[in-house]
Amino acid sequence: MRRFGTAILFLLLGLSVHTNEHTVPSLSGENKLFIITLDGLRWQEVFTGADSALCRNAEYNADVALTQALYWAPSPEERRKKLMPFFWNVIAAQGELYGNRTYGNKMDVANPYALSYPGYNELLTGTVDPTLFGNGKVANPNLTLLDFLAATHTYRGKVAAFASWDAFSYILNREKTNVYINSGFDNIQAASLTQTESLINHLQEGIEDKKNTRPDEITFLACKEYIQKKQPSVVLLALGGTDEAAHEKTYDRYLSQAANADRMIGELWQYLQTQPAYAGNTTFLITTDHGRGNSTKNWYTHGFFTKGSSQTWMALLGNGIRATGEQKKKQQQYQKNLKDLMLKLLAF
Ligand SMILES: [Zn+2]
Repeated sequence: MRRFGTAILFLLLGLSVHTNEHTVPSLSGENKLFIITLDGLRWQEVFTGADSALCRNAEYNADVALTQALYWAPSPEERRKKLMPFFWNVIAAQGELYGNRTYGNKMDVANPYALSYPGYNELLTGTVDPTLFGNGKVANPNLTLLDFLAATHTYRGKVAAFASWDAFSYILNREKTNVYINSGFDNIQAASLTQTESLINHLQEGIEDKKNTRPDEITFLACKEYIQKKQPSVVLLALGGTDEAAHEKTYDRYLSQAANADRMIGELWQYLQTQPAYAGNTTFLITTDHGRGNSTKNWYTHGFFTKGSSQTWMALLGNGIRATGEQKKKQQQYQKNLKDLMLKLLAF
């Protein structure tokens, strides 16, 4: 395992890597990258835990006393640890966390829309496409980092995406890409299914009220099974429960979805450390696609007209990452810069 030192900072300041196979000779395939997204999870909850006003509000919680028993503590440091123990016990000690605006450490989407599709497009292409302004199910005209990697000799058959939201079929352009995609309620299709894969298909078929987003637990299970079976090098795991719960104005469920995601990410990290193909050469980049409203009146929504919606965050852990924990330096970064960082992490 090699260390970046101060390299991360330089990368984020804009050193670019040309996204062409011939100009990235160091992509050996040895390094593994997991891009994990928690849809619309605010930096406020990541860095300060349960919001004091929101978790006491009977309009947004089925049982205020229970929400507080589970997630409340007097200090933000205790609250965030209660909500996301893997982030604050493991990543804070061994990795890096960006986006705590309390210290002026800012991260934002550069696209003005602050919706999901434009956010994921920005993250995965490293650019803002002004023509992608909604969440409509249109095939992405842009080449993503995953497309680029899956088209290289090194990563062919080694790039996979598991998403709770069914729009990822379009964001990643299923018709054109070599990326393996399992999104929404896609059944797992393979020449031979493992017992777990058959169970996942059976579970999904049993859900009658299928909306656009399946439960994150199923997405996670499908992803973990694929890792065991195929050992992919680059994985996108896109979780959606936080955004779903927020739009339904259920703060208690929004918190439990964040806690759930933290647990699954921790479980995945722990599993990978036991696997020779992944231990010591794997990096997690964990982020979101947009923020949400920053008041008790608008926390549940997001978009161009909702203040706070551009505000995001990022956590890094693993190969090439310093153990500098929570970043407290005044700084402004953008989601669009993360594509270059991801390429560097793979080439490192
Ligand atoms: Zn979203």
